[in-house]
Amino acid sequence: MRYCFVALANEDNRYRVRAGQACPNFKAIKAFFALISQIRTIGQFGRMFKMPDGVQANNHLPNKLPEIFESFGEARRDGFLAMKAIKDKGIGVVGTFCTYTPYEVFTAAGLVPVGLCSTSDETIAEAEKTLPRNLCPLIKASYGFAVADKCPYMYFSDLVVGENTCDGKKKMYELLGRIKDVYVMDLPQTQYKDSAKLLWKEEIEALKEKVEARFGVTVTPEDLVRAIKERNRERVLLKELYELSKATPPPMTGLQQLRILFGSQFKFDHEAKLAELRETIDKIKENYAQGQRPVPATAKRIAITGCPMGGATEKVVQAIEESGGVVVAYENCTGAKQFDRQVSENGNPIEALAEYYLNIGCAVMTPNKNRLELLGRLCREFKADGVVEMVLQACQPYSVETHTIREFLDGISVPFLSLETDYSSGDVGQLKTRAAAFIEML
Ligand code: SF4
Ligand code: SF4
Repeated sequence: MRYCFVALANEDNRYRVRAGQACPNFKAIKAFFALISQIRTIGQFGRMFKMPDGVQANNHLPNKLPEIFESFGEARRDGFLAMKAIKDKGIGVVGTFCTYTPYEVFTAAGLVPVGLCSTSDETIAEAEKTLPRNLCPLIKASYGFAVADKCPYMYFSDLVVGENTCDGKKKMYELLGRIKDVYVMDLPQTQYKDSAKLLWKEEIEALKEKVEARFGVTVTPEDLVRAIKERNRERVLLKELYELSKATPPPMTGLQQLRILFGSQFKFDHEAKLAELRETIDKIKENYAQGQRPVPATAKRIAITGCPMGGATEKVVQAIEESGGVVVAYENCTGAKQFDRQVSENGNPIEALAEYYLNIGCAVMTPNKNRLELLGRLCREFKADGVVEMVLQACQPYSVETHTIREFLDGISVPFLSLETDYSSGDVGQLKTRAAAFIEML
């Protein structure tokens, strides 16, 4: 069945329902469509992941992804086929919402984790029937896709795991719990108290017990160590990939880098993903060594910080890269925040996971010194000419922290621009104007 769907894809990067006509497995395809009955056409599914109207191709930098980037660029859209195959094999799926989620607990249990944070505004109107309008679009969109039953990853998730991070998310989980099996971890609000470390360790232990009971499995310390080593190998490769952009000029655009970082979350065959990442890194290096320069040497080097990115918010990267800039580093949850460090492979694995995950530098923590440390280091190592922050509308943790980030960057003489946006296309022109003015003054 998997191969039948290959033929459905890629006519001007849109899905077309046509391959099944001559396909011997058409009955299987129809059964699949019946299963995901709310996704009535492949076209509808494809729209979930396309750029918002009004977002134009990047004129300044090459926007057409070479083949090597294509597979990651389409990974989220294509991953639902792999997800269906996973379910057919009887493997459990866990939906997640946050970088604090200890991913290794699921893979140690033989489960497949998948990120559920939505990046499209398609179902926000549906969400606003229940949720307030002045709520972060990430929360509204994620909930909207769940209630509208339009997200195959949500559909296939046997268990959804969230954390008490920001207020909007934790209250949304209560409502989500009415339609899905939701388990919420109690994330400490600070990283600097022994009690916080103990609480997070206990929460990871409790998550392991929940997973064991829910899926009828036993997770041993050896399973956890194996899962930690597997995930570390992926972290190392993704870090190697984004660190290629330390070069001047970088060997890829920021949009290309973002699509690999974002898309890699939706490739579920771990070993195949690592092999593909290795191949991608080697190919980029080879192209660069042969003199290919996709980015002009004069492009202003920008580091991104703030809320998670992907899908509709690519418009921010495009605004920068159409204005004479190039994004070289992502400090946010789509980038370095996830892959900069590794979990210790020695000692008690639950303690190692607790230590690693608790130290993620998100604005929900107070104080949040780790964000400043990572951002400052990225600015130095990637020779950033400026930092652009993307804050999603109504995100209190990040919008309040903007002042601290501005002060910090002033202190190290790095120019700073904060952009507030949502998942719509209504502000594309305004983003472009502000990005252009910022880059002009660098
Ligand atoms: S920004 Fe913070 S709350 Fe949001 S996904 Fe990242 S770690 Fe979680
Ligand atoms: S972007 Fe901000 S408001 Fe939205 S889920 Fe993340 S921390 Fe919460």
